[in-house]
Amino acid sequence: MQCKTGAEHLSSLRDGRTVYIDGRLVDDVTTHPAYRNAALSAARLYDYQARPENIEAMTFVPEGGDRRVNLCWQMPRTYDELVQRRRALQAWAQVSYGFMGRSPDHVASTIIGQRMGLEVFEKHGSARAKALADYVDYATRRDLFLTYVIVNPQADRSKDWGEQVEELVARIVDEDSSGLTIRGAKMLGTSAIMANELFVANLQPLKPGEESLAFSCALPMNTAGLRVLSRKSYEAHAVSVFDNPLSARFDENDALIYFDNVKVPWERVFVHRDTDMCRAQFHDTPSHIFQNYQAQIRLSVKMKFLVGLAHKITEAIGTTNMPQVLEQLGGLAADAGMVEAMLSGMEASGAKRGGYYLPNRHLLYAAQVITQGLYPRLMHLIRDLAGGALIMLPSSYRDWANPELAPILRKTQRSPNFNSEDKVKLLKAAWDAVGSEFASRHTQYEMFYAGARFVTTGHSYRTFDWGAACGMVDHLLSTYDLADVVNTAGQ
Ligand SMILES: Cc1cc2nc3c(=O)[nH]c(=O)nc-3n(C[C@H](O)[C@H](O)[C@H](O)COP(=O)(O)OP(=O)(O)OC[C@H]3O[C@@H](n4cnc5c(N)ncnc54)[C@H](O)[C@@H]3O)c2cc1C
Repeated sequence: MQCKTGAEHLSSLRDGRTVYIDGRLVDDVTTHPAYRNAALSAARLYDYQARPENIEAMTFVPEGGDRRVNLCWQMPRTYDELVQRRRALQAWAQVSYGFMGRSPDHVASTIIGQRMGLEVFEKHGSARAKALADYVDYATRRDLFLTYVIVNPQADRSKDWGEQVEELVARIVDEDSSGLTIRGAKMLGTSAIMANELFVANLQPLKPGEESLAFSCALPMNTAGLRVLSRKSYEAHAVSVFDNPLSARFDENDALIYFDNVKVPWERVFVHRDTDMCRAQFHDTPSHIFQNYQAQIRLSVKMKFLVGLAHKITEAIGTTNMPQVLEQLGGLAADAGMVEAMLSGMEASGAKRGGYYLPNRHLLYAAQVITQGLYPRLMHLIRDLAGGALIMLPSSYRDWANPELAPILRKTQRSPNFNSEDKVKLLKAAWDAVGSEFASRHTQYEMFYAGARFVTTGHSYRTFDWGAACGMVDHLLSTYDLADVVNTAGQ
């Protein structure tokens, strides 16, 4: 039984979508120099799962489906299924060394999370619940690459969303018997250029009166009026794969999405004019848990890669065995181990909800808060281990082709463990991971993908068992009192 392949995914992206970059409309994202390698990396995910040696571990046959699809669509019913699914997600993350944050498993996790809490949608309305359930079946059976825009554009954060200027935040501007019309923008559709469909929702709190902003829906990327305004492409500015091996291949892109009077049929509308339901679709269902659990799974792979990179840098400059350097490497290894441990912990202490097995919610949010601070510290520590080695590099691969420069490079790019070409190759990769514009965007991503710190700490605060923690303090205080001490002291 076959499953989706890379070629199939690439051909699905030639669908007439409206993507702009550098003032121009993009003809074909699969061939454009700004995106072609990222699209190819996405395609490689599907080729990876389709390989005969991987297909069993990476895919399953969904109910009602006629071919295998990625395990990210599986709604786990037991601890074992959760772990099996996680292993598949980790294997996928390894294809990009964890650098593709919005690989297809991210929003698949969001949407199956919503499906696992269908009763929340039933309360909102049976037609909306049916729309969601049908859509999840549709997307699952086709193994679609979904991405999402669930956050509003930053403009004036001192005002509520409903108080922003007209036309900024995507809102319902009309509705009729066929569906809704939406106009306005959403912030940063990561991977939108290479996804099949876009899930549109509102995660940030809304208040009564802001009902026109309160909707969620899913749209094919080639929907009329859906405009993708892409940020600068790091892929297009990558000098070569030798100079920028990560930016050249894994620049998943981020884009402002503008809805220019976009029609959404009712069968694609999941939340309709209900401000509390915008929150509930994520937080009263397992959706928010599953989307952020995917992010921790992916990070566990990236951490391993980065810690490996740190070790290789020290090998390149001959510092590995210096006691202070060993200590720093040991600390980095502990950070990677901690991310792995938190993942195992949230799985082992998970619980059943209805028929499904979910990771432990508080441990997930704890991991999120810790790793959002960990990542920039990790970048700093790797830079610290490297010194000027990351900068003392040839301008590009072209220097090697110059017969005057190549002998000088061989004499000056010295390492106790690598020849000059391999040393430069490694350090170019290291700079791409920690210092390039691509790397800098990754730091911003890890710091913000799940919300600013005041948001993630808020989730942690709300889900912690304060009763148990404060109860222990109360218990200690209840074991003595002032009168006892005074009386004892007086005897
Ligand atoms: C690389 C990248 C990719 C992304 N991809 C996606 C995507 O695919 N889909 C999507 O929907 N979104 C995406 N986002 C958006 C992301 O979800 C938001 O950046 C995140 O939720 C934070 O919101 P914000 O950017 O509006 O920052 P804000 O919430 O405005 O926070 C910025 C800073 O302002 C201050 N601040 C703001 N409000 C408050 C407050 N009320 N109290 C205290 N301090 C405050 C804090 O210092 C905070 O750190 C992406 C972001 C990045 C950086």
